[in-house]
Amino acid sequence: MRKLLLLFFFCQAYVGYSQQQSGASFNGDTIRLNYGRPYTRCATMEHLAWMEKHDTGYKAKLIASQKLMDEWRSRHKPDSTTIDTEYTIPIVVHVIWNTAAEKISVAQVQSEIPVLNAAYNRQNADTTNTPAPFKSVAANMHITFCLATTDPYGSATDGIVYKQTSSTGFYAGFNTVKYPSLGGDTAWDVNRYLNIWVCNLQGGSLGFSEFPTTPLDNTFGSVILYTAFGTTGTLIVPFNLGGTTAHEIGHLLNLHHPWGDDGGLCPGQNGGHDDGAADTPPEGNGNLDKYTNNGNSNGATYGCPTFPYTDNCSTTYPGIMFNNYMEYTDDSCYNLFTNDQKSIVMAALHGPLAYLIKSNRCGPAGINEYSFNAGISVFPNPTNGKITIQFAEDRPEVCSLDIYNVLGEKIYATKTNHSTEVDISNSANGVYLLRISGNNVASVKKIVLNR
Ligand SMILES: [Zn+2]
Repeated sequence: MRKLLLLFFFCQAYVGYSQQQSGASFNGDTIRLNYGRPYTRCATMEHLAWMEKHDTGYKAKLIASQKLMDEWRSRHKPDSTTIDTEYTIPIVVHVIWNTAAEKISVAQVQSEIPVLNAAYNRQNADTTNTPAPFKSVAANMHITFCLATTDPYGSATDGIVYKQTSSTGFYAGFNTVKYPSLGGDTAWDVNRYLNIWVCNLQGGSLGFSEFPTTPLDNTFGSVILYTAFGTTGTLIVPFNLGGTTAHEIGHLLNLHHPWGDDGGLCPGQNGGHDDGAADTPPEGNGNLDKYTNNGNSNGATYGCPTFPYTDNCSTTYPGIMFNNYMEYTDDSCYNLFTNDQKSIVMAALHGPLAYLIKSNRCGPAGINEYSFNAGISVFPNPTNGKITIQFAEDRPEVCSLDIYNVLGEKIYATKTNHSTEVDISNSANGVYLLRISGNNVASVKKIVLNR
């Protein structure tokens, strides 16, 4: 029902946007993003509100998965700082381009990965800039990200999908870039890959993400503006050091903004929230200075204040943790995640993202019969002769479909890169073997013919 509902909304008239820096309407909804600044880090909370409004059951799913993650955290206290398993997460980057500039280079895509690995392993060179009072809570997440080396069918890949689009831009907060019918590209299996769409994101936001749910939505991933991705190429200063994707992946791992997205209130106040991490100081930046929203505070901190920077929620030294990757401050200002944030992330990795950390799509590519096999269905089986061989997605190469009898004699052969029907009703009843093979992949399935 949820998918049907989403489809319904996406199929409604697309209301264009003409005011890039103020807001956009889609299916009757308007999302405002930039809050008076040329760029704001993230539209994740605006996107969340849109999802909750239009995706029936999404809010309940979020609450249920959060409950499971909270239970995991409660069982794993107080050793959150010593959960030091090494995790590997494969990434696929969908580069959705209309102009040549939007078709960012392989080198630009690849340049993001070291930034992520430094941030999530506390190997960033600027850990020395972490203020002394916060060094004791700075965490090494022990998460390594890689561009996937194996695609959903088991073929070798560089983890980058280039797709040309007729769309001149994708408004932040809406999911259009994730649907081919709206000019985007379908996610690879969200349980096996962390999907990132890089595109001409409009509205003055650098990116947005979804929080993990059980099960994951097939739109789970991050969307990043092409001039805020990686560290090389044409990039917007001061968002040219890969910080946006480090921040957005934090949301995919269930991290929230330290100020609690409550418009400047403090935890404990009526309507006030925090981020669920006890070691990020309370924050609600109500200052009317250059580090707030042009003197019109919404609770977020921009730019890069000088330490210590206090606010209405953390009024005394050491003040708020504006260096945290989940802040809205500049890329060069980011330098830590905390132990409690690590605990939140570990609960996500052992909950909604449990398949992702077992995905094993980063090793040497080659024959991977399991994943290739998983993408192919053969039915009915037993059959009276006609068999549908269904590919989950069209293959990038033409595959051979060969059927053998138990003597090893080939009784049928064809080639295709998509779902097809074969007919072996002229053969004798018995057991046959269907072999489907493509580039470096093969799958063998048993067929029973019973006319
Ligand atoms: Zn954010």
